[in-house]
Amino acid sequence: MRFQPVIGLEVHVQLKTDTKIFCGCSTKFGAAPNSQTCPVCLGMPGALPVLNKKVVEFAIRAGLATNCRIAPRSVFARKNYFYPDLPKGYQISQFELPICQNGHLDIEVTDLNSISSGCQGGKEEATRAYSDVRRGADDEVNAGRRLKANSVKRIGITRIHMEEDAGKLVHSDIPGLGSGSGVDLNRACTPLLEIVSEPDIRSADEAVAYLRKLHQIVVYLGICDGNMEEGSFRCDANVSVMPVGSTTFGTRTETKNVNSFRFVKQAIEYEIERQIELIGEGGKVVQETRLFDPGTGETRSMRGKEEAHDYRYFPDPDLVPLVISNDWVADVALSLPELPEARRSRYRSELGLSDYDAEVLTATREMAEYFEACIALGAPAKGAANWVMGEVTRTLNEAGKGIAECPVTPERLTALLQLIEKGTISGKIAKTVFDEMWSSDKAPEAIVEEKGLVQVSDTGEIERIIDEIMAANMGQVEEFRGGKEKVFGFFVGQVMRASKGKANPAVVNELLMKKLKGA
Ligand code: ADP
Ligand code: MG
Ligand code: ZN
Repeated sequence: MRFQPVIGLEVHVQLKTDTKIFCGCSTKFGAAPNSQTCPVCLGMPGALPVLNKKVVEFAIRAGLATNCRIAPRSVFARKNYFYPDLPKGYQISQFELPICQNGHLDIEVTDLNSISSGCQGGKEEATRAYSDVRRGADDEVNAGRRLKANSVKRIGITRIHMEEDAGKLVHSDIPGLGSGSGVDLNRACTPLLEIVSEPDIRSADEAVAYLRKLHQIVVYLGICDGNMEEGSFRCDANVSVMPVGSTTFGTRTETKNVNSFRFVKQAIEYEIERQIELIGEGGKVVQETRLFDPGTGETRSMRGKEEAHDYRYFPDPDLVPLVISNDWVADVALSLPELPEARRSRYRSELGLSDYDAEVLTATREMAEYFEACIALGAPAKGAANWVMGEVTRTLNEAGKGIAECPVTPERLTALLQLIEKGTISGKIAKTVFDEMWSSDKAPEAIVEEKGLVQVSDTGEIERIIDEIMAANMGQVEEFRGGKEKVFGFFVGQVMRASKGKANPAVVNELLMKKLKGA
């Protein structure tokens, strides 16, 4: 029997507001335990929540960027459960009327969806068949990336709602308390968005493509720092399998709080394989909550799946329904930055860049903005693209810096690119100048002047060098004239070396060709 995985993701996005969702406490990460708390986030009886307007604005931004409808009226609800990191005994969330609904994201996918398994052959064969297909899929994904864009697939977004985070239990040595367990409520009441997808995802790779896209968007929007290690962007993966051709979904499991793209892929693949194996052995998947163990790459059962009715959701009587005007939504829409997808297509159509260049340059908003600053200052598009993706990125990586801290500002890089364009220096020499600019404040013109790096375009001077080199390498000259055109590169190299890299390559090529052909 062949199986088709079905996946739906619930993503928790921690919002980058200065203060918490229902009180004025700081959301800063890493402070001393319980130092950022007040009666509201400590859940003291009688303390009343007050909604942080910024959280609503961020939720609207996320909704608009993911093509959702923004609800004119939404309601906060209490989700009741007990855990020591939740002092109120309930989490304030949204249930029946969330702030955003019915959105979607388009991702690029390969067409390998169904997973085969030799069910009759039992467990091992089932697993082997699945792994073979999976490896094939990986290869295709890799090849596809290099060859051309794959087909586009739309993943539905069911809803986005706002909620508060819980605190954190700490097991170990607690400053001032000795060893044992304690609770740190600094994180309690930190604002979260939960973004729930439709069960439209059909493989671990699609899940990762969707998550990467969503991650890029929330970071671009400036609503989340995107730090997955610190848990600012984490995902619950719902996975089920069904026989290919079936229209009824299988029973799903939910693997909680997976916090890296690699782990998401591992957790989903493990879970698909486990479920297929289980069914192959005649067993049944039970609906449950599971945990991913990054050490083993496996998931294991944590608890039986709770249902919505277990939580006794009801509208929070402390908070009035949230009413959002069309004007506010329109204002937020106007303030949205241009998103990566729109930027990419503009780079292709207006600047004539390749898919690859457009993709790399829009990977982060900072890089896109740096690049666009150069273009606005008059830098040539292709040259700026090559330099930003090449020298600039390489040097930043070596220095462990982000592009916002680049000592060579867009103004200075543009000045350098213009020297290349005017033919004052060659691209090669420009790299030397760039290195010098990195560690000094000097303008590129000053460096070129000081070091005598001006490109030689004077044909007389270059001709003299060519004559010398040809005279010293008559053997190769004969080879060239005998039809071995490959030695042309040798001559270019010799001339460039003799000129210490300063000869204008275009002039060198032209003159060399003329002279070698025996003019
Ligand atoms: P809950 O709130 O109990 O987690 P939901 O119905 O809101 O349940 O669904 C949560 C997630 O599970 C959604 O992302 C949805 O797409 C996904 N999902 C629902 N049914 C299935 C299924 N049979 N297989 C895989 N994912 C599913
Ligand atoms: Mg859930
Ligand atoms: Zn507080």
